[in-house]
Amino acid sequence: PPRIRRLEESVVNRIAAGEVIQRPSSAVKELVENSIDAGASTVSVTVKDGGLKLIQVSDDGHGIRCEDLPILCERHTTSKLSAYEDLQTIKSMGFRGEALASMTYVGHVTVTTITEGQLHGYRVSYRDGVMENDPKPCAAVKGTQVMVENLFYNMVARRKTLQNSNDDYPKIVDFISRFAVHHINVNFSCRKHGANRADVHSGSTSSRLDAIRNVYGASVVRDLMEIQVSDENAVDEIFKMDGFISNANYVAKKTTMILFINDRLVDCTSLKRATEFVYSAILPQASKPFIYMSINLPPEHVDVNIHPTKKEVSLLNQERIIEKIKDAIEEKLMNCNNTRIFQTQALNSSALTQANTRKDKGTEVSTPTGEKSQKIPVSQMVRTDPRDPSGRLHTYWQGQTSNLEKKSGLVAVRYDLH
Ligand code: ADP
Ligand code: MG
Repeated sequence: PPRIRRLEESVVNRIAAGEVIQRPSSAVKELVENSIDAGASTVSVTVKDGGLKLIQVSDDGHGIRCEDLPILCERHTTSKLSAYEDLQTIKSMGFRGEALASMTYVGHVTVTTITEGQLHGYRVSYRDGVMENDPKPCAAVKGTQVMVENLFYNMVARRKTLQNSNDDYPKIVDFISRFAVHHINVNFSCRKHGANRADVHSGSTSSRLDAIRNVYGASVVRDLMEIQVSDENAVDEIFKMDGFISNANYVAKKTTMILFINDRLVDCTSLKRATEFVYSAILPQASKPFIYMSINLPPEHVDVNIHPTKKEVSLLNQERIIEKIKDAIEEKLMNCNNTRIFQTQALNSSALTQANTRKDKGTEVSTPTGEKSQKIPVSQMVRTDPRDPSGRLHTYWQGQTSNLEKKSGLVAVRYDLH
């Protein structure tokens, strides 16, 4: 049989690094999470060639001590965890001390940082986990800047596939947008290298809706409803969810699901499916939803260490939690649908009384906004615009049918759903 040999450490590290940093957007996510963990209130991202040429993340967080710089990019060096048990209650996004190290095994990393009270900062470059030179004193503004150049320069196959596929920039913009919606007091920006305009510019705000508006636009915000679920009376289970979900007016081809569990940006396919299912059941004509949800559970109910890029977490009582959230969404959607019907009916009945009191004489009909009014004999009234209130039809039909009201309700509902 072939001999079994011990792999060289550099080979082991590069293999591991390729798993942690799968693509440029995963590097951006790790760097931005480090900035948030450092308590930053401003995080700026610059990207060149979809991140393959350059990724630069600057923050105004607490910085890194000069004496820590020599081991900063070694594998498994971290300031966030000391004993395994700490994992149970961990609040920071990082904990494995692998991200920066991994980047140095698959790219060229340069860190510039200054801590509070220092007169100058330090700059140092890393390769394969170690410093390339002693940290050089340099001018610096508050916080840390990490620059990653030539990502995957030593992984030919990965670089080729990434170069051939669509570039990662849209994914990066997507990540930053999601972070901006959750961390509303952090000012995020993301731009292509050399561009004047940022593609995401969140501004820091105190309102979630403002944050969503800044990132996803006013038209999205107009069609959102607030939602809250909590299960705090249960003895063995405590969870809270709050967020915003789109109503029946929202139009989109793809679901946007922004999910944070204990402040970690994660995916949860089963929750996403359940949500989409509720929408398609209640609003068959409606489009895919926009969902922002922040779920909070006791840290010991969340296993954060089940995925190499921490993209997924596993929850205690996951089915029950999803069921509860599903019920809450269902109720919200039903209510918003009912309100809409109710409003339209109110309009109809007033149009109806108006028409009834004026009977066969020429009648004045105004649009709900009161924009125009015209005088035409009722017998000649024809609805020429499908967007006209169905009230006009009633006038046209009056006297012809006794259960007018029911029919008008029906028309109103159909009209609403289209
Ligand atoms: P982890 O985040 O899991 O601890 P990383 O490799 O991402 O591992 O980072 C290693 C350490 O470097 C962190 O624990 C933190 O102390 C420090 N660090 C990284 N980025 C920053 C930053 N932007 N600001 C301050 N400290 C940072
Ligand atoms: Mg980290």
